[in-house]
Amino acid sequence: MGRRLCETLCKAESRDFVPCRANEVKRMQNTGYGLIRPESPPFVPSSVYTFPDLEAIRAYYAGSAPGYLYRRNGNPNTDQLEEALCQLTGAAAAVFAASGMAAIAQACFSLLKPGDHLVATRHLYGGTYALFEQVLRPWGISVDYVDMDDGDSLAAALRPNTALLYVETIANPLLQVADLEAIGRFAAAHSLRWMVDNTFASPYLARPHTFGADVVVESLTKFLGGHSDVMGGVCYGSADVMTPIRTLTVTVGGVLSAFDAWMTQRSLQTFHLRMPQHCRNALALAEFLRGHPAVEQVFYPGLPDSPWHAIARRVLFDGFGAMVSIHLRGGEEAVNRLLRACRHVALAPSLGGTRTTVSHPALTSHRAFSPAERAQLDIRDGTVRISVGTEPFEVILEDLRHALDEAR
Ligand code: PLP
Repeated sequence: MGRRLCETLCKAESRDFVPCRANEVKRMQNTGYGLIRPESPPFVPSSVYTFPDLEAIRAYYAGSAPGYLYRRNGNPNTDQLEEALCQLTGAAAAVFAASGMAAIAQACFSLLKPGDHLVATRHLYGGTYALFEQVLRPWGISVDYVDMDDGDSLAAALRPNTALLYVETIANPLLQVADLEAIGRFAAAHSLRWMVDNTFASPYLARPHTFGADVVVESLTKFLGGHSDVMGGVCYGSADVMTPIRTLTVTVGGVLSAFDAWMTQRSLQTFHLRMPQHCRNALALAEFLRGHPAVEQVFYPGLPDSPWHAIARRVLFDGFGAMVSIHLRGGEEAVNRLLRACRHVALAPSLGGTRTTVSHPALTSHRAFSPAERAQLDIRDGTVRISVGTEPFEVILEDLRHALDEAR
């Protein structure tokens, strides 16, 4: 796919980011508010709905009467969120889950069956690695890990029973950027399904389904929720692929709570304002960190000398993300000195909130990998992952400059 076509397919229009009110208003006409309607969507926590008689229940199941039956089968806040997310991403359908991990697991259970083979990137979130090793493998799925940007090892890993490729757009924690264009071509040439965890990029920076990905997963807990107060996940893509994932999600029951759906509805209204500020701050911070003597190496795809910069320029739009990772000189001791000296930036093993937080992958997100595996992935005791927030940049700079001086 040429650059021009990718841009046409992927470029976000600013109006994509403004949730559409027309359907919301239509829906509200049936809620008894009449012409006076609440400006923000009402929160509907009910776990069950009432029916006048059995005919009404029959009509619900037949699809001839719109409405809701039971929380696990559907909820107005989740439906409105699906509409907003589909508008934002251009996907045909979205299925929500109780967490990012639930979304990944439910998509895998839907797309794979015992005896299948999964080829995953070796640059993976530790929780996903744990899911593959501790749940999918015992269930009868064989898994191989490769460098997805190495076409030869990807081709060599394929087996007749390979059923799925799995990759992260921007990998946790060292921020390698997947060449979604090349992977899409490879998957199409081998008639393979592929799934992308887009959590670190968010739909603001990447729309992997426009490169042909069958399923895109995101943790709502991170940038889509955006305030460290939501837990949820979503899969999106074509209606064909989403329908069985939706059925499985309702059956196994790992649905998104109504409250988290409602909170995410609120968060989407500021998504287009938060993300550019996250990205601007991250780029400025990466440039500062690169010159600091306490820092051995900076990982950020927005730096022109990053090995992932050229790919990032092709597959991401409107920035390079809010995540910056570093190798701090002096290992764990230096990390502790840094953390104890921070006055604003907090140690918090998550990401994507408005406040800048730092995390220690070896001890938290990547603890499922053995020390030898972490060494192979270059995840060290001195590796610090920074989720750059939306504060005025000087607030972040002042705090980290002081803390890094203390860490030396
Ligand atoms: N994917 C990535 C890249 C993550 O970093 C995480 C969590 O940190 C997840 C998925 C899982 O999301 P959740 O914590 O919402 O289950």
